[in-house]
Amino acid sequence: MITLDHVTKSYKEGTYALNDVNIEIEDGEFVFIVGSSGSGKSTFIKLLLRELQPTSGKIIVAGRDLSRLKSGQAAKFRREIGCVFQDFRLLPDRNVYDNVAFAQHVIGVSKKEIRKNVPPLLTMVGLSEKYRSLPGELSGGEQQRVALARALVNKPKLLLADEPTGNLDPGNSWEIMKLLEEVNNQGTTVVVVTHNLEIVNAMEKRVITMKKGVKVSDTKQDNLIVRN
Ligand code: ADP
Repeated sequence: MITLDHVTKSYKEGTYALNDVNIEIEDGEFVFIVGSSGSGKSTFIKLLLRELQPTSGKIIVAGRDLSRLKSGQAAKFRREIGCVFQDFRLLPDRNVYDNVAFAQHVIGVSKKEIRKNVPPLLTMVGLSEKYRSLPGELSGGEQQRVALARALVNKPKLLLADEPTGNLDPGNSWEIMKLLEEVNNQGTTVVVVTHNLEIVNAMEKRVITMKKGVKVSDTKQDNLIVRN
């Protein structure tokens, strides 16, 4: 699903945000990316969404070599990936239903189809009774669940979550993580960037640790080494 092949990203000032990183994430995996601030996590997400291009190396996401996408194709590619961010990024003047429906609308799904697709997702995230609420009328946890429903409504093969629990209390953080696990169990590849080590340790998933732009550990490979 994701290949980073000797990827380096340096910024003009000479900072190496990523330095010769190799990562392979298979279809259907659940992977945490952890590391302290400045370790390159946001750069990694931006590269996967092709908001940035690497200085060198190759990135393949869902079978596409990102360096070969033209800008029009890049926009289309981005819409095929589900994304959840720390700050929810909901449309403040649209209700819950419309926030989720909008993701379908922009890819040209008919209103009739949208009416069929949105309610099951709102049920999944436990918000079917709040479909008419505006984001400002919801708690942080509820807003993040709307964002998750929106990220999933187009049935992406890959879900990227960038600090999805960064603004949530522990109870709501766990609810979001359990939902991400459920989504993964249904076949979606899930990549979660987080600082929340308590959750990472409890979930027992693959963990890739970054430090100053370098991958310093990967539990999948560490396990392989142990087995060898
Ligand atoms: P993280 O998300 O783990 O905090 P980042 O990917 O944001 O890490 O940053 C990695 C490194 O790249 C940091 O040293 C940061 O200062 C630098 N960096 C990030 N974005 C830029 C930018 N637009 N211009 C210059 N340096 C940047």
